[in-house]
Amino acid sequence: MTTNEIRWRVGAPIREQGLTHLHSLSTVIGQYANARNHTGESTTTRLSPYIRRRLVLEDEVLAFARTVGNFPKVEKFAQEVVWRTYWKGWLESRPGVWLAYLDRLHQFDQTLSAPDRDRLGCATRGQTDLPYFNAWCDELNSTGYLHNHVRMWFASIWIFTLKLPWELGARFFLDHLLDGDPAANTLSWRWVAGLQTAGKHYVARADNIAKYTGGRWVPKPCELNESAQPLPDDGLARTTANQPPPGPDADTVRPQAVLLQDEDCGPLPAAWMGVPAVRYVVTERRQHAPSRLVTDWIAGACADADARIGTVHSAHTADEIAEWCRRTGMGELWAFQPHTGFVAEALGGLKTSLAPLGITLRFADRPHDLTLFPLAKRGFFPFWEGASAKLRQQWQ
Ligand SMILES: Cc1cc2nc3c(=O)[nH]c(=O)nc-3n(C[C@H](O)[C@H](O)[C@H](O)COP(=O)(O)OP(=O)(O)OC[C@H]3O[C@@H](n4cnc5c(N)ncnc54)[C@H](O)[C@@H]3O)c2cc1C
Repeated sequence: MTTNEIRWRVGAPIREQGLTHLHSLSTVIGQYANARNHTGESTTTRLSPYIRRRLVLEDEVLAFARTVGNFPKVEKFAQEVVWRTYWKGWLESRPGVWLAYLDRLHQFDQTLSAPDRDRLGCATRGQTDLPYFNAWCDELNSTGYLHNHVRMWFASIWIFTLKLPWELGARFFLDHLLDGDPAANTLSWRWVAGLQTAGKHYVARADNIAKYTGGRWVPKPCELNESAQPLPDDGLARTTANQPPPGPDADTVRPQAVLLQDEDCGPLPAAWMGVPAVRYVVTERRQHAPSRLVTDWIAGACADADARIGTVHSAHTADEIAEWCRRTGMGELWAFQPHTGFVAEALGGLKTSLAPLGITLRFADRPHDLTLFPLAKRGFFPFWEGASAKLRQQWQ
C-alpha cells in the first residue's frame, strides 16, 4: 500500500478499486437507512470520491443497489445518491449562485481583518476551544473525508458558534474534500446556513453529537449556540431557473476525437473508444487552493482514465490542443459536459479560444444527467417525486 492509499482510507483513485469497493457494500447498503446517521467507519459507503470523478457512475451504484434489495429497502440510499444529482442539476440552472460565492471569497480575501484571519487560521488548523471540532479538522486535513453528519455539525458550528463566514468554511471543505464538488458543497453549506431552504437551517446540538458519535464526543452545556437563527436571506435561492439546453446523449455521439477533462474519468461509451484523445489539464481554480491530497486524487483519477483508454496526448493550453488537432487532422472535439465550477469555466474559455482556430469543441451528457437534471427545478421533494418514479421502474 502506498502512503496515499493509507491516508486516503477509501482506496486509490482507480476505477477497478472503486468497483471492487462498491461490490463489497451489500451489508452497508442493506443497513443504510438505520445506520447512516451514526459516524462509525462502515455506516455509509465512502464512495463519494469515486462518484465525484465518475470513476464509478451513479448508474452503476444504483444498479448494484438493485441487487441488495427491493426499492423500499434501499430507497433511502438511492435518495442520497440522487441528492447529489439534484444539487448539480439545481446549480446548472442557476450558475450565478456559484459566481456569487466566488465573488464573496474574492471580497473576503481583500478585506478580512488580521484578527479575523487569525480566527480563521485557528479554525482550519483545528486550534479552537472545541476538541471535537479540532478532531474533525485534523481528520479532514489528513484524510480528505468527513462523514455526512460530521459535515453538518462542522458547518453549523463554523457558522453559528464560531460565527465565521459560511463561504470561507465552504472553501475549506472544497479545498480538502476528495469528493469536493462545487454544487454539493456550496449548496449544502447554504442549506446549513438557512440560505437554501427558506426558514430552515441546521443547528448542531450537543445531545445529537453525543448520540451519533456513540459518546465519543459530548459537548459541554452551553458550548454550542443551539438557539441560532438562520442567516439573513440573500435571495439567491429564489433565482429564476434557466435550464441550459441538454446536449446529445454521449452514448449516441460518434466522435472523431475526444477531449478528456478531470470531472469525468468514467468509462467511455463504446463509440468513443479507439479515437484520438487529448487530455486537457485544468489547474486554475479561482479563489481556491486544493490540498495535496486532493490534487493527487484528481491526477490519479485522470491517470487511471488515460491508462484505460490507451494513448492520450496531454495539453495545457488552447494552442497546444490546436497544434495536436492540426497534427491529427481533427476539426471537432467531443467532451463530457462539465458542470458549473472550475472545469466548466476553463472549458468555456477553451471553446472560445479554439473557435477562431477552426476547431469546434462540443459537449455531450451522460444519460443519468439527461434524465434527472431537468427534474431539479425547485425543491428536493418535487425532484424526488419525479426521480423516485423513474427509479422505481428500474427496480421492477
Ligand atoms: C456542509 C456539507 C458539505 C458537503 N460537501 C459535499 C461535497 O463537496 N461533495 C459531495 O459529494 N458531497 C458533499 N456533501 C454531502 C455528503 O456529506 C457526502 O456526499 C457524503 O458524506 C459522502 O460520503 P459517502 O460516500 O459515505 O456517502 P453515502 O452516505 O454512502 O452516500 C452515497 C452517495 O450519495 C451521495 N450523497 C450522500 N449524501 C449526500 C448528501 N447529503 N448530499 C449530496 N449527495 C449525497 C454521495 O455521492 C455519496 O457518495 C456535503 C454535505 C454537507 C453537510
